[in-house]
Amino acid sequence: MPEPNDLVADLAVVGHLVTSDAQYPRGEVRVRDGRIIAVLDVPSDAPAEQRVDVGEAYVMPGVIDPHVHCLSYAGEGIEAGTRSAAAGGVTTILEMPFDQEGPIWSVSAFNDKLARVRREAHVDVAVYATVEPGGNGISQIAGLAEAGAACFKVSTYHTDPNRFPRTPDDELIEVFAEIAKTGRRLCVHAENDEIVRAKVAELHASGELDPRLHCAARPPVTETAAVANVLELGRDTGVKLHFCHISTPRAVDLVQWHRSGGAPATVEVCPHYLTLTAEDMVRRGAWLKCNPPLRDAEHVDGLWERFRAGQIDAIASDHAPWPKHYKDRKNIFDNASGGPGVETLLPVTASEALHTRKIDPCELVRTTATKVAKAFGLAGRKGDLKPGLDGDLVVLDPHREWIVDGAELHSNAGWSPFDGMRVRGKVLLTVSRGEVIWDGSHLHSEAGRGEFLAADC
Ligand SMILES: [Zn+2]
Repeated sequence: MPEPNDLVADLAVVGHLVTSDAQYPRGEVRVRDGRIIAVLDVPSDAPAEQRVDVGEAYVMPGVIDPHVHCLSYAGEGIEAGTRSAAAGGVTTILEMPFDQEGPIWSVSAFNDKLARVRREAHVDVAVYATVEPGGNGISQIAGLAEAGAACFKVSTYHTDPNRFPRTPDDELIEVFAEIAKTGRRLCVHAENDEIVRAKVAELHASGELDPRLHCAARPPVTETAAVANVLELGRDTGVKLHFCHISTPRAVDLVQWHRSGGAPATVEVCPHYLTLTAEDMVRRGAWLKCNPPLRDAEHVDGLWERFRAGQIDAIASDHAPWPKHYKDRKNIFDNASGGPGVETLLPVTASEALHTRKIDPCELVRTTATKVAKAFGLAGRKGDLKPGLDGDLVVLDPHREWIVDGAELHSNAGWSPFDGMRVRGKVLLTVSRGEVIWDGSHLHSEAGRGEFLAADC
């Protein structure tokens, strides 16, 4: 038992603690100078400047969202994206490099982005870089890692010629070897370019308006074939691969198979692949258009089986805050892909995980925080309720019901893929480095309080 003086805290939160490996139905977390100083299995009467008792609500480590696009549409920005994160219990984001103003693939672009993070962020932000295809990019990799890039991302699919181009296989293998030297993780958008391109051209030209054609244009094999290819290409390079927004159980199995052979690969899934299906597109159309697309119920069930088995390393929102007018075209193929999600990540996932799928709350914590921190070199500061780590907490009432309304969320997008969904689980409090930044209805945070996080790997 620590001496009472060692427990003097700026903030004490009493509630149902859920850590990566334990639950304390009536425990207490104490934070001083921004860091956790104690995790207690019973409440203490040691002094604390501020003491919050949340009753039976869950007190968990702040969520780490490894996949956020604050600047793919400039009308969002780091400010609105991280405001939305704070209101959703997300205390760390990893910010993507595919910005409307141009990709982050040079040290100068990276440094401009860091300045922006330091001016605008409400929560802590680690920053991705990407690699310019065509040969020039490889020479930038070491400098970008040195400048603080937490990880890199490339795509096997040609999403956008300027913002998000494809890296061909011959270059990928060189990129892998160069990134392996930095120790950083390389995240991959894995879809087979040739098959998708041909199918999109064919189905778009048909003139048919069924929104499910988007799913038909990108069948599961386009993901699994790309994942298998990338795993094989990376195999002897030593690169630490991470597969973004995986939508098929088979892709998770492929990663597992390589992992069992020693490959340091990790995999993320998204709340939409865990809760929605292609059939939902009949009703919701382009609001649910995303890449890869929504799948069928069997895929959703398969992802949950693997979640339960501990095979998923991260839940990512893939927050893409397009304005409404990017989603209002009649033909599904003429609409933007993706949607806002950083604020709904935890409640939507927790609602399905805890109530419908009966997932162990500790596994939810591991998948929303602990394993994510480990995968991205942030475990020295983030990812669990443990003394010495940053005082990043989220309080979730797992029983409070609400209906998602994108107009009430804090992104500038003003809509949500989950609009109208009844969710059980509400974020009552978000604490970042010991500061209450969200109290369940109001933000208590200023732009610029968030810190830039360098990876520790
Ligand atoms: Zn994305």
